[in-house]
Amino acid sequence: MKDDNCIFCKIANGQIPSATIYEDEAFRVILDLGPAAKGHALILPKDHYPNLFELPDDTAAAAMKLAKKLGAKMKENLGADGFNLVQNNGECAGQTVFHFHLHLIPRYEDDGQKIGWKPGKPSSEELEETRKIITGE
Ligand code: 5GP
Ligand code: ZN
Repeated sequence: MKDDNCIFCKIANGQIPSATIYEDEAFRVILDLGPAAKGHALILPKDHYPNLFELPDDTAAAAMKLAKKLGAKMKENLGADGFNLVQNNGECAGQTVFHFHLHLIPRYEDDGQKIGWKPGKPSSEELEETRKIITGE
């Protein structure tokens, strides 16, 4: 399934050229045009799924296996000191392209980047309340 209006469908299926570091029947992995650090790549399924929740379980599992394999290769070949996996779902979570993608971000001691959040300080009662909302207890 492809979406004619989706740029990542076109890239994943080779209609738009990209710096491809890996390709198989189900995925294309490309270098991000606006990298957080050298080697920042995106795992794109060739089929169109807008986000993680629409992605079939077996594709999700395969994407994570691929992240592990390519992450190790990138760490080794680029000499990265660490690695972030980032996957945004929804506009408020920072998603800008609505075709599932998993960011592979090699990290370097002095790369000056920050991937993070401002930590909250919930009380144990608040944590318990949140736990109950999530689990439905
Ligand atoms: P999101 O914010 O949706 O999680 O990530 C979208 C990512 O796609 C961004 O990091 C952005 O730099 C990258 N991107 C957007 N358009 C293109 C493109 O046409 N080619 C490539 N290689 N990367 C893109
Ligand atoms: Zn798409």
